[in-house]
Amino acid sequence: MPTKYIVVLGSLMSGLGKGVVTSSILKILDFYNIKALPIKFDGYLNYDCGTMNPYRHGEVFVLDDKSEVDMDFGLYERFLNKNLTGILSITGGKLFGSVIRKERVGKYLGEDVQIIPHLTNEAITFIERVANEEKPDVVVIEVGGTVGDIENSYFIEAVRQFSLRNDTVFINLTYSPRMEAVGEQKTKPAQLGFRLLLQAGIRPSFVICRSNDELPGNVKEKLALFANLEKERVIDDSDDATIYNMPLHFMEQGLDRLLIKDLGLSDARLDKRRLGAWKEMVRRIVHPSAKVKIAVVGKYTGLRDSYASVKEALVHAAASLDTGMEIRWIESTELEKGDLSKLQDVDGILVPGGFGNRGIEGMINAIQYARENGKPYLGLCLGMQLMVVEYARNVALLKDANSSEFSKRSRHKVIDLIYWQRGVKQKGGTMRLGAWECRLSGKDTIAYRAYGKPIISERHRHRYEFNNKYRSLLFKKGLVISGTTKDNKLVEFVEWGSGFGIGTQAHPELKSRLEAPAPLFVSFVKAASRAGIRNYSGNKRPD
Ligand code: GLN
Repeated sequence: MPTKYIVVLGSLMSGLGKGVVTSSILKILDFYNIKALPIKFDGYLNYDCGTMNPYRHGEVFVLDDKSEVDMDFGLYERFLNKNLTGILSITGGKLFGSVIRKERVGKYLGEDVQIIPHLTNEAITFIERVANEEKPDVVVIEVGGTVGDIENSYFIEAVRQFSLRNDTVFINLTYSPRMEAVGEQKTKPAQLGFRLLLQAGIRPSFVICRSNDELPGNVKEKLALFANLEKERVIDDSDDATIYNMPLHFMEQGLDRLLIKDLGLSDARLDKRRLGAWKEMVRRIVHPSAKVKIAVVGKYTGLRDSYASVKEALVHAAASLDTGMEIRWIESTELEKGDLSKLQDVDGILVPGGFGNRGIEGMINAIQYARENGKPYLGLCLGMQLMVVEYARNVALLKDANSSEFSKRSRHKVIDLIYWQRGVKQKGGTMRLGAWECRLSGKDTIAYRAYGKPIISERHRHRYEFNNKYRSLLFKKGLVISGTTKDNKLVEFVEWGSGFGIGTQAHPELKSRLEAPAPLFVSFVKAASRAGIRNYSGNKRPD
């Protein structure tokens, strides 16, 4: 059967949660054992996300195949529980780049190259490539930005043309604001947004409406009337306790039935066992029977999206242990002066990845605090590098130990660029990226106990590494090296000799899913919950 398509378009404004809606639709199809894959279009002219600032754009997500993609891919993978590939990420940069390369080699000889048809055809070719290579039953295309933007206008035109030749269902995600003064949810902005889509030649089959409170029946009716839709095709997407409830909330409103009918896939059968397991995980997130408090000490804590995967991996691990997760976001610069009282009542401390100097000493203070006070510690990438720096300074007494990323003058660069990074001039796509296999040594380590097998694979995104010149010295001082690349050239995991302290050069958070939590996070949260039993004060589930 030829691949069918769903296109999710947002109107009015960004930040409505198009990624969550797209992921929820993917999950609904997955519950019906329909092979569904996402495509994300982003209008920016960067080739990929790798060169963007996480503080502005949110986290850069990395796939197994080394692609640096939009953080929505993190959502897709977390919901779908599948490893995705870079061809699913289409950017303005890739499309323009491809058209210009073709023009140079003479593919369009004699023609004047234009947005329509050349760029739009290129977009269509990118979409068709996914269908040809991956052969999914359904592709869900999320169009980044908002209808009416210049950046995505040619892509929307491309999907309109594409829909004339392929089974395509359009979905409009919109917003209904609540006017406090009148106490009413307004639909006029949504109507205007819908009209923009009609002007672009697109007639959505569903309106999914974001709002703070659940949409009352009369508001649904009004929206349906103006959108020429039956009322049941207006779907409520109001604030919820967890994003993982959205597929369930949409299914309660019958979106699954209608969508599957529209796609002509009515034979698909719901997998009740997997749906039930998902519901149980949602129940555990919303009504936890206990709570673990974790401090995340980072430098981008002002924008939570910068640490989206870390946050979700903590939530997944906690849910798998049937406990709640309370994250305390701590800006590391605030710990630089040595006042660490904010860490006193947490059950565990996590230092995530990051780049650049700012806030580094605050993170090192937090790590020292964890080590000296027996608080479980998890270091991710930069968090592992700083764990090594802290250990070198305070245990091995190499007082000016540092990473060469932060100090060129340090005499003990315990973290340094590896040889093949030294000559790198081009910044885009040149870090150590993607999935790398790692060999865990010794069965009596935190790492081995977490994974339960000797060879594992995690994703990477960094330039600096543990400096092998310091391996034996730090080992003699008690630092455990519990995992390396298979050729033993690069250190991947380090641990303290006692207590729960582990750092990894990888980003295990990138592979954590609600249905398959990251093993290292599960071990960490388990250790923290043991530490936290003393402090725990209530929050029992109301049965
Ligand atoms: N800045 C460090 C490096 O490049 C760590 C990167 C990270 O945490 N992702 O190696």
